[in-house]
Amino acid sequence: MKKTLLLLLIPFIGFSQNIDDLFSKKGEIYFSFAYENKNQLNELSKIISIDHKTNSEIAYAYANKYEFRKFLQQGISYQLIEKKPLNYINNSKNNWDYYPTYTEYTNMMQAFADSFPAICKLHHLGTLNSGREILILQISDNVGQKENEPSFLYTSSMHGNELAGYILSLRLVDYILNGYGNNPRLTDVVNEIDIWINPLANPDGAYSGGNQDVWSATRYNANWVDLNRNYPDPEDGPHPDGNSYQTETNIFLGLSDTVNFTISANMHGGVEVCNYPWDTWSTLAADDNWWEYISHEYADSCQANSGNGYFNYLNDGTTNGYDWYEVNGGRQDYMNYFRYCREFTLELSDDKTPDPNDLPTLWDANYPSLLNYIEQSLFGLRGLVTDSITGNPLKAKVEISNHDIDSSHVYSNLPIGNYNRYLYQGNYDVTFSKSGYYPKTINTTILNNTSTIKDVQLAPINLTPTYITEEISRNAKNLFIDILGREIKPTKNTPLLYIYDDGVVEKRIIIE
Ligand SMILES: [Zn+2]
Repeated sequence: MKKTLLLLLIPFIGFSQNIDDLFSKKGEIYFSFAYENKNQLNELSKIISIDHKTNSEIAYAYANKYEFRKFLQQGISYQLIEKKPLNYINNSKNNWDYYPTYTEYTNMMQAFADSFPAICKLHHLGTLNSGREILILQISDNVGQKENEPSFLYTSSMHGNELAGYILSLRLVDYILNGYGNNPRLTDVVNEIDIWINPLANPDGAYSGGNQDVWSATRYNANWVDLNRNYPDPEDGPHPDGNSYQTETNIFLGLSDTVNFTISANMHGGVEVCNYPWDTWSTLAADDNWWEYISHEYADSCQANSGNGYFNYLNDGTTNGYDWYEVNGGRQDYMNYFRYCREFTLELSDDKTPDPNDLPTLWDANYPSLLNYIEQSLFGLRGLVTDSITGNPLKAKVEISNHDIDSSHVYSNLPIGNYNRYLYQGNYDVTFSKSGYYPKTINTTILNNTSTIKDVQLAPINLTPTYITEEISRNAKNLFIDILGREIKPTKNTPLLYIYDDGVVEKRIIIE
């Protein structure tokens, strides 16, 4: 330890000037290095931003000046990777082989909402210091009204130079909106799901070189912070990267606190693979088998709809996040752990900023998968949780004993009381609970790609009556209530409420 420190002191002083030069034009650099083992890589992941291109021998990474200084202290030899200037020919807006200017992008987003006002709404989530905005489109029938529908989220390009998903997201919006009323599948998707699409999560990175094009896009935001290391982490807590939450991060923290997304995907690039939780630790997700199923569904469909060799990286186009390399402060883990949402990461293209000519092929390969995943939001276990007396919707905990770990339980959401619990096929005991209510456990069988609907009524405990007779069987408690659930003295035709210990409630009328 001491030896390395001494050796490093001298070159480090010499480096100082070089470091300033290195970062004089741009606040981030890209480099590669050979690493010894996973432990070393995971430790380095806390210092620099390990990139998706990292393989089993060579790590690729980004760093700002501060991060790079810390990396140099490790004494690891590295190679700088010069970013080749992109000189693609930007083709035609009409054929989707084109990256819009920033203004064209915002105009497109507005035009979607203006052209389809009944099913599409544009939300201005916030404005960055640069003046650029974080925009999101909401697509649904009765758009903006809360309904018994899952809320689904696609977001792309929080790494500003990973731009395949930017264009695929815009094209997906266009495809869904124009298909509504014509294409039965797209019509169903719009009718049944509350879909949110944010094509560009890091506009300052994407348009780092100016609003006219994306050819100088950067991974980091304008403050040279990696937004995908800037989220609260299940293991490392708040500020795992040592930076304050960036405006972009705060905007998404607010959005995910407002909309109860049940399922989402975060689009990136650099390789071609689905990366599923967790990124921060080696423990498998409670629904690891569901994640594997979902990821293979995505990858298989991409392979079937493209030429040879697309989307087959790592385990046939899928990987557990931590298995690949550790990420702390990533958005995927944040959404899964803190927001009870199922989010995975889609790495859509080997070229981070693909040649515009390749964008239509990427669309052909991905749009069936993108639609399949949206439809997954309807599957698994779902239903409404309500108060058995008043019928009012409840926010209740939905938990599977001997199964749920690491915050994999979910909640029903107000004002509707709807819940979605995505599960791999099998048999599950699911418990619904809320303080002030008797918990209720149901047994249910789940099939893949199938909705199992279980509406659940929870009986309030605070109705414990003055008049109570214990029933011999099932330990039921008999309540005498009126139609509004108020306790009353029993008379003829009084509804008699049986509340059993297992939470089952029955209403009976005394007639004699
Ligand atoms: Zn990325």
